[in-house]
Amino acid sequence: MTDHVLLRMVLRRERDIFVIRQRGREAAAAAGLEHQDQIRLATALSDIGRLLLTVPGGADVAFVARPGTPPSLVVEIVAAAGAAVVLDGDPAAAAAARLVDRMEVDGDGNATRVRLSRRLPLGAAPLTGDRLAGVREELSANAPGTPLDELAVQNRQLLAALDEVRAQRDELAETNSGVMALYNELSQELEETNRGVVALYNELDEKSAQLKAASEAKSRFLANVSHELRAPVTAVIGLTRLLADSGSDPLTEEQARHVDLIRGSATDLLTLVNDLLDLAKAEAGRLEPAWGEVDLRALFGQLRGTARAIITRPEVELTVEDPPTGATLTTDEALLAQVLRNLLTNAIKFTERGTVAMSLRPATGTDGWEIEVADTGIGIPPELHERIFEEFYQVPGSSTGRTGTGLGLPYAQRLVTLLGGSLRLSSEPGKGSVFTVVLPRRPASPAPVPRDEE
Ligand code: ADP
Repeated sequence: MTDHVLLRMVLRRERDIFVIRQRGREAAAAAGLEHQDQIRLATALSDIGRLLLTVPGGADVAFVARPGTPPSLVVEIVAAAGAAVVLDGDPAAAAAARLVDRMEVDGDGNATRVRLSRRLPLGAAPLTGDRLAGVREELSANAPGTPLDELAVQNRQLLAALDEVRAQRDELAETNSGVMALYNELSQELEETNRGVVALYNELDEKSAQLKAASEAKSRFLANVSHELRAPVTAVIGLTRLLADSGSDPLTEEQARHVDLIRGSATDLLTLVNDLLDLAKAEAGRLEPAWGEVDLRALFGQLRGTARAIITRPEVELTVEDPPTGATLTTDEALLAQVLRNLLTNAIKFTERGTVAMSLRPATGTDGWEIEVADTGIGIPPELHERIFEEFYQVPGSSTGRTGTGLGLPYAQRLVTLLGGSLRLSSEPGKGSVFTVVLPRRPASPAPVPRDEE
C-alpha cells in the first residue's frame, strides 16, 4: 500500500514549530480526524518538533496519508543527517507518544526519524485519488499564519477544552446528587423495613411466651387432675375386688356382672389417668433422665419376655433379635424400655396375623443405634403419619375392639426426644408399620451424669 504525501515542510527555527503545529492541525482536519484528535496530533507534533529542533540543521516534516483498514494520517519528522537525538526516556517524547496511536523512532546514529500515526475514524471518507487531491488543495490554499495566529487558535482550543471539562464536572455533580437522593431513599426504606422486622420479632417473642405459658398451664392442670383422680379410681378398683371376693357376701349373677363392668371401666380410667400423668410430667420438663450405660442385649431380653406375655394370638409370631454382646448406649434404661414396650404393645395390638419383630442396627451417618419395631398389621394411612403423634388421636376404626387412650405415641415421642433421639415411622395400610427409634450412643447435652449406684 503506498503512502501519499500531502505536504512537506521544514523545521529550522523556533517559529517553524508554530507553523508545523498549525499545519498539522489543518492536515488532520482535512484528512477527517475528529476535533480532539486534531489537537492531540498537533500537540504531539509540536512536542517532537521542539526536541528535534535542538539538532543543528533542524528537521524535515512530511504529512502522509496511508491507506489501509482503517486508513491513517502519519507525520514523519526526519532530523538532519549526522545527528542522533535520544528520545528514549524523555518525558516530552513519552507524553507525545500517548497522544497518538503509534510513535516509531528510528535512530541509526546518522539520523533520527520519528513517525507519528493516528487512525482515521470509521466514518471518515476513503482516501481516493480525488479525495487526496482535495486535501492537498485545501492545505495549499491555507496560507501559513503567524505564530500569533496560531497562539490565538491554541487559546480558543484551550478555552473550548476548559468549557468541556466544566460541563463534564457539572454533569458529574448532577449524577452524584441523583445517586445520593436514591441512596437516601433506599436507606430510609431499609430503616423502615428494619423497624417493621423488629416490631414483628417483638410480637413473635410475646406470642411464644404466651404459648409457653398456656402449654405449661395445660400440663399443670393435667398433672393435678390426674393425680387427684388416681387415688379414688384405685379405691374403686379395690372395692370391686372386695365385692367380688369369695369371702364377701355372695352376689347375684346380675350384681356380679355389674361389678365386673365397674372394675373394667375403672381399670381403663386408671390407665388413662396414669398415661396423662406421665405425659404431663414429660411435657412440664419435670422428667430428668437418669443417664447410665445400658446393655442393649439385656434390655432386648427383658422386652422379649414382656412382649411374649402380651401376645394372645397364635397367628402372630414374635421375633426379638439378640443384639451383639457389647452393644451399649448411654441413656435412661427405664424410659427407653417404656418407649419400646409401648411400640411393641401397639404392634401386637394392631396385628391380626403375621410377625412382630424388634431388631437393632447401627444408625446411618452417626455412631448411634436404630431400634426397629416392625409389624405386619393393619398399617397407617400416610396422611395420618403425623397426626397419630398428637394427643388422643386414634386412626378411625382402628380402636374397635381394642383398648387404648391415644396417648402412647405422643408420650413415646416425647421420651425419645428427651433422650436426644428421634422417632420415625414408615407404614402402609394393609401391609404393616415400622417404628424406628434413633438414639445417639451418648446424649449431646446436657453432659450425661453417670447414675449413682444406690
Ligand atoms: P393407643 O394405642 O393407645 O390408641 P397410641 O398413641 O399409641 O394410642 O397410638 C395412636 C394410634 O396410632 C392408634 O390408636 C392407632 O390408630 C395408630 N397406631 C399406633 N401404632 C400402630 C401400629 N403398630 N399399627 C397400626 N396402627 C397403629
